Amino acid sequence: MDRQFNISGGHRAAGGDWYAVENPAFLTPIAEAPLTAPQALDDAVASASAALGSWAKDPMGRRNALKGCAALLASNLEDLAVLLSREQGKPLPAAKREILSAKSYLEYFADKTVHQEVILRDTNRTVVALSSPVGVVGLIVPWNFPLVLLMMKLAPALWAGNTVVVKPAPTTPLTTLAVASLFAACLPPGVLNTVTGGADVGASLVSHEGVAKISFTGSTPTGKKIMESAAQTLKRLTLELGGNDAAVVLQDADLETSAPLLFERAFMNAGQVCCAVKRLFVHRSLYEPLVEKMVAIAKHWRVGPGLNEGVQMGPLNNRQQFEHVKGLLDDAVAGGGRIVAGGDTPPDWPGHFIRPAIVVDITDSRRLVREEQFGPALPILPFDDEDEAIARANASEFGLGGSVWSRDIERATALVSRLEAVNLFVNQHATPPEPAIPFGGMKSSGFGYEFGDWGLDEFVVRKVLHSPVGGMA
Ligand code: NAD
Repeated sequence: MDRQFNISGGHRAAGGDWYAVENPAFLTPIAEAPLTAPQALDDAVASASAALGSWAKDPMGRRNALKGCAALLASNLEDLAVLLSREQGKPLPAAKREILSAKSYLEYFADKTVHQEVILRDTNRTVVALSSPVGVVGLIVPWNFPLVLLMMKLAPALWAGNTVVVKPAPTTPLTTLAVASLFAACLPPGVLNTVTGGADVGASLVSHEGVAKISFTGSTPTGKKIMESAAQTLKRLTLELGGNDAAVVLQDADLETSAPLLFERAFMNAGQVCCAVKRLFVHRSLYEPLVEKMVAIAKHWRVGPGLNEGVQMGPLNNRQQFEHVKGLLDDAVAGGGRIVAGGDTPPDWPGHFIRPAIVVDITDSRRLVREEQFGPALPILPFDDEDEAIARANASEFGLGGSVWSRDIERATALVSRLEAVNLFVNQHATPPEPAIPFGGMKSSGFGYEFGDWGLDEFVVRKVLHSPVGGMA
């Protein structure tokens, strides 16, 4: 079977134990990935540390390297997209879009310049802000968007002069390793290192004394463990965690345009999107027509292996997630809920497929409403009054995103601002990440930002330089 290697210090890391990475549509092995041993993790951190000095000193070299990495993604687009689709499960066009997005993030940072911030200038003194890299940064990512989520961290981290150790999810390491191997042609040895394996490898990276910061995207329970462990070494943290986004559809919403968009924003990537629409609150007067429209779309949504022509939704990425979503659906039905479309597994393939499920007659207390489903199952919940809708939307431990849908933009804007969430939308939800626009969470969805100048700040140490007048240009 093919093997993908870790990159450490600019070379393939020596192999130890290996494990098979599975295609979630067919449950057949694709290739083997390494299980990083403790010594190999130490070596990766040591390589990152050794590379730091010269990398941090060369901003122009860094920008050129990012440009080179973007070009490598472009010239390997087809192969990478097939590999991503096979290991993650997503349709091939979506895999291509993911790689092109990743490329655009690298290009954005390759072109980004800084201007010095003057904090104070008076007759006696000048106070300016300086930025230094944080040091060796651990980037830990999940399996839903392996490349996009990695590149949201990697591009700004490298731009700011840090060196990194990347830890992909155990079910989706292959594209990341292929990309790291390609990037070795553009990046100085040790700037980008990878480690692979399960929770233990991630935990060792978090507790490592040589790592100055962890930028983590993943589940809230793992985020809590990371925060606890990071306290021992006082690591800086960015935690992008789970979500349970509400979309609130007001009485005057335009269902013709809203329904297809709401469906897409709930079921894209088989619902495995942190900021997907996960609870759909709709004014009682529109409840039945909206349910009808969502059911009609669900019934025609083409589910199948990601490499099959015309497929709109692939399988869930792994067995654990499949069981989780099935469990939430069972709980919904046990509580009187009705699955009016989907929720079943097509018999055609052995993999982790669930057809898009629309669930009605469900109460807010059921697990499908309270917990993050992170899969293709959407509860639709009627409301009578807008204050009630906002209160129910906010009655969640999570605070990632939210939206309000209405023809009256002013009213929707006022209402959406009352949501306890960071990424807010009117007549939209979960738009694709853009490097100039910050993204983040509050409450159990974590803290810190990705992208935008706020996100860039997560990868620098701010210094404050006081000098006498004339001391600074
Ligand atoms: P997960 O927390 O199980 O795993 C994420 C990564 O952390 C994996 O690489 C895993 O191996 C590693 N890991 C596991 N235990 C660890 C530990 N103790 N210490 C360090 N690393 C550890 O999450 P998942 O199931 O892979 O991903 C799904 C979750 O990610 C969902 O909750 C989703 O909402 C969230 N997510 C959030 C965002 C965001 O931007 N807020 C984006 C995408 C996904």
